[in-house]
Amino acid sequence: MIIGRMRLFLVESPIRMARAQGVGSVKGSVKRVLIALSTDDGLTGWGEAAPWEVFTGTPEGAFSALDTYLRPHVVGHPALRLRAMLARMDRALIGHTDAKAGVEMAVLDLLGKAKGLSVADLLGGRVRDTIPLSFSIADPDFAADMERMRAMVPAGHRLFKVKTGVKPHREDMAHLEAIRDAFGDGVDLRLDYNQALEPFAAMTVLRDVDRFRPTFIEQPVPRRHLDAMAGFAAALDTPILADESCYDAVDLLEVVRRRAADAISVKLMKCGGMLKAQAMMAIADTAGLPGYGGTLWEGGIALAAGTQLIAATPGISLGCEFYMPHHVLTEDVLEERVPNRDGAVVVPEGPGLGIRVSEASVRGGARILAEAG
Ligand SMILES: [Mg+2]
Repeated sequence: MIIGRMRLFLVESPIRMARAQGVGSVKGSVKRVLIALSTDDGLTGWGEAAPWEVFTGTPEGAFSALDTYLRPHVVGHPALRLRAMLARMDRALIGHTDAKAGVEMAVLDLLGKAKGLSVADLLGGRVRDTIPLSFSIADPDFAADMERMRAMVPAGHRLFKVKTGVKPHREDMAHLEAIRDAFGDGVDLRLDYNQALEPFAAMTVLRDVDRFRPTFIEQPVPRRHLDAMAGFAAALDTPILADESCYDAVDLLEVVRRRAADAISVKLMKCGGMLKAQAMMAIADTAGLPGYGGTLWEGGIALAAGTQLIAATPGISLGCEFYMPHHVLTEDVLEERVPNRDGAVVVPEGPGLGIRVSEASVRGGARILAEAG
């Protein structure tokens, strides 16, 4: 099974709500690179590289990395030698974890389709059939998010992650109070500062928000401040979750060594793919840190990969934030979306990533800015 062709599409999709994150706020549209790998016997696997400029790089950079630097290490090589391919890509090009994750996803999709197995099967077999779905409260217009919650909670959604630190602290406090007043303990509330606080003043702020009993507080301070993170983890009963402080296994070893977090956010675009994510979770499991299924601004292909990963990785037990396709993207490149039911993502049953994508669905579901191959 030799990979004969790699096609690339740099695409842009409109989104229906603004997202204020503290860093890299998003409005209007998101861009990403779609990868189609085909074998000579007519099978195609799909992957997606979805960088975000404040996390891993740019979509234009991923497109160029794939087209110019990674293509020779993929085309003409056997799909069944995936680990060798990943090692070649790492030797040929530093960073660009998003591009490498996209290639791996396409190869695993291809292998699954060839063997009639899902990617979760290839990763060890599923340990769960549904994944609790977290929606982010990140609209600059808080009233709009409250309206969404009033519709989502009765529909079975329980997990909500509030993007704190974007607005003044007293506004965050008022919003958290409004959420607890409206929904009580019926919602599982998480907070994500996206590095917004400075270590100097953070402890007071965190002790304040702690009274709303969040399940975890994510990345309160900039990524390099591991000692401050360790201080919060030691002082607060509420778990501290590392996102920007923990991209890959190297970061995770440091987080564990310095006790800088109680849990981690695992993102394919940060760590470079599903096999690397499982390697990270082996370390995290050993250290007793559960994982949370994070995402950048990924579309349906990358989120299907994340879904397959979590289905097959016991330690990623804190749910996922794969809400883009059903709640934010106005259209997507899948022929049909991965179903959500009762506030959870349903792990698809079909072979490969469990989704159907075609050139027609790509052209119909996104604006194509560039293509190659
Ligand atoms: Mg985060």
